[in-house]
Amino acid sequence: MIKDLTKEVKVQKLPLIAVRNVVMFPSVETTLYVGRQISKKALIHAYDKAGSLVVVTSQKRAKIESPKDVDLYDVGIVSKIEHILQSDGHVHTVVKGLYRVNINKISRDGFMWCEFGILENNKESGYDIQKASELLLSQLKKAFSMGRQFDLPAMMRLSTGISSSDLADQVAFSVQASIGEKQKLLEELSITNRLKLATELLMKEMKVTELEREIETKTQEKFNVGIKKNILRERKRQIEEELGKIDKKEMGEMEELEENVKKCKVGNDIKKKLERELGRLKDMGMMAPESSYIRTYLQTVLELPWGTWTNDNVDIKKAAKILDKDHYGLKDVKDRVLEYLSVINLKKRYKKPEGMGANILCFVGPPGVGKTSIGRSIADALGRKFVRASLGGIRDESEIRGHRRTYVGAMTGRVVRGLKDAGSMNPVFMLDEVDKIGADYRGDPAAALLEVLDPEQNKEFEDHYLDFPIDLSKVFFVLTANDLSGIPVSLADRVEIIQFSGYTVSEKINIAQKYLVDKQLKVNGLRKNEIDGLPNKDILRYIIEKYTREAGVRNLERTLAQVMRKIARELVSKNKKKTGALINKKIRAYLGPEKFSSQLKGKKDMIGASTGLAWSSVGGSILFIEVNVMPGKGKLILTGTLGDVMKESCRAALSYVRSRATSFGIKKDFYKIDIHIHVPEGATPKDGPSAGAAITTALVSALTKKKISREIGMTGEITIRGDVLEIGGLKEKAIAGHRAGLKTILIPQENKKDLINIPKEVKSEIEFIPVSDYDQVYRQVFS
Ligand code: ADP
Repeated sequence: MIKDLTKEVKVQKLPLIAVRNVVMFPSVETTLYVGRQISKKALIHAYDKAGSLVVVTSQKRAKIESPKDVDLYDVGIVSKIEHILQSDGHVHTVVKGLYRVNINKISRDGFMWCEFGILENNKESGYDIQKASELLLSQLKKAFSMGRQFDLPAMMRLSTGISSSDLADQVAFSVQASIGEKQKLLEELSITNRLKLATELLMKEMKVTELEREIETKTQEKFNVGIKKNILRERKRQIEEELGKIDKKEMGEMEELEENVKKCKVGNDIKKKLERELGRLKDMGMMAPESSYIRTYLQTVLELPWGTWTNDNVDIKKAAKILDKDHYGLKDVKDRVLEYLSVINLKKRYKKPEGMGANILCFVGPPGVGKTSIGRSIADALGRKFVRASLGGIRDESEIRGHRRTYVGAMTGRVVRGLKDAGSMNPVFMLDEVDKIGADYRGDPAAALLEVLDPEQNKEFEDHYLDFPIDLSKVFFVLTANDLSGIPVSLADRVEIIQFSGYTVSEKINIAQKYLVDKQLKVNGLRKNEIDGLPNKDILRYIIEKYTREAGVRNLERTLAQVMRKIARELVSKNKKKTGALINKKIRAYLGPEKFSSQLKGKKDMIGASTGLAWSSVGGSILFIEVNVMPGKGKLILTGTLGDVMKESCRAALSYVRSRATSFGIKKDFYKIDIHIHVPEGATPKDGPSAGAAITTALVSALTKKKISREIGMTGEITIRGDVLEIGGLKEKAIAGHRAGLKTILIPQENKKDLINIPKEVKSEIEFIPVSDYDQVYRQVFS
């Protein structure tokens, strides 16, 4: 509301400019930007000719370009023009508000002129003003603490202390409010009211700022939440993508498992079990730690050759051919094998064949005599797959029966594993070293093995890991062992033992000539014509006697391989077409100095030294027994790593010799002498009773000072009454004696029946003399 104050103040006339979007206040210094021609002119006129004074009033509506009187507010400010700056046709001017005026009349003459009356403030109580200005100041402080921006000069003025009227005007000028609101404050002539209005505007501004801030933080939050959401979404997408890949893989794996379970040719019960496991796996997902156990289980079961059977093709003639083709000699063995195959053939005619023997052979013999090789030939002859598992040293029955699945690192037993390796459910399955199975607190593997072999039980053999029965009744089991006595009795009873024995030198030569040389030629890429005089009989004999000492031919084969490698290198490095003739010297050049000499070579007939014959799981060997007699107190000293049985044998021999002292012509002063019995090659443990005769002979010789011929070997247990008892392993012993070069072997009478098994070659070169008591031995050796 414009008050008519014209009566109270002097009327004056000054150039007038209308400003837009701003309301000028007294004591305010500000920069005005003047664009309109009419205003520019007014300004310049005022600056030049009106003492730099100009009336500034606001336009009611900013949009109007050429305002009429009604478009302008009546109350304006007489301002002092401090500076004018003209550039690019525009005028910038710094003006300072001086006092309020009421515009009474506007005239136009190139620009606007106005006549005005100065407006004075009302007279008011200082207290009210004080109160109001304190309120405003406190709000100002608050605004300041809220971070409100003040222009610097205004601030400085505020801080140096200004009048309450100016305070209100300053605030009104800078506060954010509409032109109308500011104009209202301008027109207000009560300082208290002005202060109050300014406070209101300031508070409103603060409120707005606060709201704005709130909105801003909310927007920011929203924005932040938005960003967060986006980031999370992106992460989620990536995780899902990765998971998807894994899922796909898992799905693939799962589908594959499902498919394989579906295809698997197992009985309904097993299939149901597999499906159950598959279901469990699906429920827990592939990521669950336990899933790997189930997967391994399923894979193990699925990898078994379900439904894969080879058709038995038992043509005995063909089988005989195959056995002969691969093996020299071994007539007995081949006959026994062929008998078995014939039985299998015939048994097919019965639906429920009786007895377990027919399918289970047990090959017993020293290493390298062809047990494995015969096993392979059986598989060939039957058209079955061949697989081997060694049982040597196993002590835990789970090696055979598998572990329960709850066990960490559980596995199937060796039999089931063997089936997997064979890739057929009816292979020829060779279980090696059954004589070396142990037993301890973890159960008896031999008992588990019986279950595997027993046709009554093996139709439904239960491997703990598989946890369902599996049919082993079609498997052709072959056991092998070196030592018959090492085979668990329960097992030995149920299998058909086939004995393999060591080879004589001439058999070895034949095996080498017919099989091993050819095999090693091929293995080493050589041709027959590249070796001058392929290892002939003499060279082979030389190699056999000087570089090997064994019952079988394994080392011989290895040594031949070594020779072939040397030849191969010679041909390649010297670019030769052929080796020089193979002679002993050449063999020494290839293999180094001879490793073994004839065991009797250089050994003279001596007093107190006899030749015995021993047998172990690796074959036969000869054994020297030495006796020394020296003055002493009747002690018996035994050395040479003798086993308990052999020690007892020594005591029995001494006892016998003492009881027969007179008839042997020995002085009876045994309490004055010490007797030392030694069996050289102390590193090899020796045991068994069969050296009794030889020990007795060495004792008699030492005590009577009569020499013993080195070429006589003897074997036989002796009783304290002088009876010579039956021994085992005569064939192996005879072959070893033959190898060593013995001319005569004294054997127990009861072993005479075994002579039939002794190779002719051995019998033709060695005289076997059966004896039943020591007197006969004595006569043979000492007379
Ligand atoms: P084992 O199983 O008895 O220890 P292997 O069957 O492994 O012995 O035989 C060792 C090597 O000797 C094999 O290369 C095998 O072919 C060969 N061999 C053994 N005996 C004969 C034989 N009578 N005829 C041909 N080769 C043989």
